[in-house]
Amino acid sequence: MSEYFRAVDPFPLQGSQNTRLAPFYEALRSQKLLTTFCPQCALRHWPPRVVCPDCLSDRLDWIELPDQGTIHAYTIQDTGVPPGFPRPLIFAVVRVEELRIFTRLVETEPGQVERGRTVRLLPSAVGQDPEGDERYVPTFTLARGGAGETSLVKIVTA
Ligand SMILES: [Zn+2]
Repeated sequence: MSEYFRAVDPFPLQGSQNTRLAPFYEALRSQKLLTTFCPQCALRHWPPRVVCPDCLSDRLDWIELPDQGTIHAYTIQDTGVPPGFPRPLIFAVVRVEELRIFTRLVETEPGQVERGRTVRLLPSAVGQDPEGDERYVPTFTLARGGAGETSLVKIVTA
C-alpha cells in the first residue's frame, strides 16, 4: 500500500456494494481512466457522477478517457508533508481533453515539472476498499517523449 491522500480521491472508501461509481475504480485497476457521459446533454463529467449536474438525469454512460494529458498547473509541497508520504509532494491540475483533473504526480522529479508537459495515467494503489478489493486513485507521471516535452539534442565534439 502506498501513500493515501484523500484530497485526490474523488470518492473515498467506496466499494462495489455501496456505490454506482465502482466501474471507475475497477477500470483504474487495469490502468484505464473512466468518467461519466450524459447522452441527454452531451456532457462529460469530472469527477464521474451518478446524476448529471446539468440536467439531473441519472441515465449516464461510462466512457474511457485518454490515458495522457498535459500539466495545466502544479504546486510542489516540500514542508508539512504528512508522515509516510514522500517529500516533496507534487500536486497538479492535469488537462485531459476539456476536463481538468486535480491529481498528484508520482515517480516524478520536481525539477522536470512544467506547464504544458505531457503526463500519462499511473494509478496509485492505496489499500483495499470495504469489500477487500485493491483500490487505486488516479495519479499521473511524466510521459517520455510526449508532445509537450522539450527535446534536447546533445552535441558531442571529438
Ligand atoms: Zn445531462
